Amino acid sequence: MRLMDYSGPELIARICLSEDSATKNRLSDKNVLLISGNTISLIYSDCIQEFNLTGECKFFDNDTVFVNSYGNISLMFSFAEYSQTIVVTNKCNSNCIMCAYTSSFRRDTIDTDANYILEQVVYLPDHTEHLVITGGEPTLKDLAFFKLMKAIRDRFPRINCLLLSNGRSFSIDNICQQALTSFPKKTLVAIPLHASYPELHDRITQSSGSFKQTIIGIKKLLSLGIAVEIRIIAFAYNHADIINIARLIDNELHGVSIVNFMAVEMCGNSAVNSSDIWIDYNSAFSACEAAIDLLISSGIDVGIYNFPLCSVPHKYIGLYRKSISTYKVRYGEVCSKCCRKSMCGGVFASSLKYAVPEMKPFKENE
Ligand code: SF4
Repeated sequence: MRLMDYSGPELIARICLSEDSATKNRLSDKNVLLISGNTISLIYSDCIQEFNLTGECKFFDNDTVFVNSYGNISLMFSFAEYSQTIVVTNKCNSNCIMCAYTSSFRRDTIDTDANYILEQVVYLPDHTEHLVITGGEPTLKDLAFFKLMKAIRDRFPRINCLLLSNGRSFSIDNICQQALTSFPKKTLVAIPLHASYPELHDRITQSSGSFKQTIIGIKKLLSLGIAVEIRIIAFAYNHADIINIARLIDNELHGVSIVNFMAVEMCGNSAVNSSDIWIDYNSAFSACEAAIDLLISSGIDVGIYNFPLCSVPHKYIGLYRKSISTYKVRYGEVCSKCCRKSMCGGVFASSLKYAVPEMKPFKENE
């Protein structure tokens, strides 16, 4: 959907499908897009602009949308959901060879504005229970990032907050202290560990010193009582080292809340570097098995994400999560014959062409 010939500022707004809904949102000072018949009224500050509705409205009452400077409207927060995501920045201090964004995208896109980051908190639905904070690397926004976390904590004191970070910033004492005073109480910092030793991890992140910073960051967060999840993404470059990553976690990173094993998403840098990245799901999961067994035997919780169910041996089914966002999930043609499709999380859209030869439908009673 688009506001034709729009010439106003970029802004966040609530979709309203009735006057009543528009009045409620205006009373709490929110920008509004009131859709009535074939007309869209954009109401913000003390301006009202009217546009013809072109095409079908795919939004629902109280959805939050972003209007860009060309008048394009995109969904930010679906009102029907209890889990939402805030993207703090596209910038990152690493450039992982399997990042789902290309390095040119991260380098060339305009960085997010501090006010825009904070304003998103105002538009989160009241019933939000789970919030993902992601980037790029969110901590690079420094002041705006910590203001964001504090604003979330003030508005939603009991929210479950998942912060996706490469962990490097937390090697700095001052950053850890600010985390302590601003993060919502139930914040889990999810940090990927790509290898058990500096040379390989730094080659994957293409950032010298990143392994050391990440390990120090994880230890500092744990020492302050901030919950940490470690993510192990299994791909061609690191699969032979995954058992050693598990040993490192077991020996040195005491107190992590969970270790999640993940299949790679084949877009962005992953697609550019596909010959170095792709490994079939069965081989990727095989490389994780001994590591999973080791961590479980040490009493560490484990999860399995982004793998198709047919690549996960039955004994690990209890750890399996349907984890890929609905709009990114794809299944192969053979999946229509699979009697466990409803339990399977499928594969990333960008990984489908690599996955299809491996998909093996479950038969009745299997
Ligand atoms: S065949 Fe398809 S639906 Fe069945 S487990 Fe494999 S990927 Fe999932």
